[in-house]
Amino acid sequence: MDEELTSAQLAELHQQLLQLRVELRQLLAESAEQSQPVDLDKPIGRLSRMDEMQQQSMAQANRRSTEQRLGQIEAALARIGRDEYGWCVACEEEIGCGRLKARPEAPFCLSCQTQRETGR
Ligand SMILES: [Zn+2]
Repeated sequence: MDEELTSAQLAELHQQLLQLRVELRQLLAESAEQSQPVDLDKPIGRLSRMDEMQQQSMAQANRRSTEQRLGQIEAALARIGRDEYGWCVACEEEIGCGRLKARPEAPFCLSCQTQRETGR
């Protein structure tokens, strides 16, 4: 049940994207602190040092996925500017407003996304 985006829906998604961009940038700024290299001179036990390193690598993985999502958001905002938003960047079919509401930065339609995830 995909229909073309109305201009009101587009404006709403645009707002959502701007909001998400602010939130994710904030998240990255906060996590910059957590992903500082572990200070090996700090007098802590071996176990807690391993804990700390594990936490750090989790924080880095989170950070990478946040950065990736932020990149998709920037790209989606650029597509809005070029009047190309809402169309799959791979097959140029409509992405569908249901999918865009759930994930406004989505660059692909569902079938292209599925293809990418399952690998050719
Ligand atoms: Zn597609």
